[in-house]
Amino acid sequence: MSRESNYNQAYKELEDKIKICEKCGLCKTRNKVVIGEGKLNSSLMLVGEGPGEDEDRTGRPFVGRAGQLLDRILSAVKIDRQETYIANVVKCRPPENRTPLQSEMLACGEFLEAQIALVKPKILVALGNTPLKFFLRVNGGITKFRGQWQTWRGIPLLPMFHPSYLLREESRAVGSPKELTWRDVKNLKSRLDNLN
Ligand code: SF4
Repeated sequence: MSRESNYNQAYKELEDKIKICEKCGLCKTRNKVVIGEGKLNSSLMLVGEGPGEDEDRTGRPFVGRAGQLLDRILSAVKIDRQETYIANVVKCRPPENRTPLQSEMLACGEFLEAQIALVKPKILVALGNTPLKFFLRVNGGITKFRGQWQTWRGIPLLPMFHPSYLLREESRAVGSPKELTWRDVKNLKSRLDNLN
């Protein structure tokens, strides 16, 4: 078996495992498990919090309004979403979109780690407080950490605001979350370009 088919086989096995997972209580209220999607072997992996209503219905990550905004943010600096891999810390929707519990994050984290091990991104982006907490074990703090490069297990990690937060913030003034995100995504693009 070729290296590529071994790789695809390993990914498929992981997907099959996640699809039937009942390791935490979120399995009881989900419609569809949202595993993640994108290019395997991508240089860039974006990690959000968990599925929302649209994602739970479709089984795909970042397809609702926040996802559409994320696509626009990426395309503004010519990052093609199809060339990235996108996943969430938890794969099943928390009821009423509440923040995932620590126990849920820990239960699901093994899958995210397995995805990262397979994709082998050169850069990780943590979108919002939940992935920031998962990767850096800090509570809150996206406002403090955003835009500052960190490292997770040797992989450069950039914390950024979650696009759903940006949807609630109208201002584009200097220092506003939207303007800061524009700076962050340009920073991200520059680092990506320097990989090549
Ligand atoms: S959130 Fe993760 S750990 Fe919990 S049931 Fe879904 S897939 Fe399993």
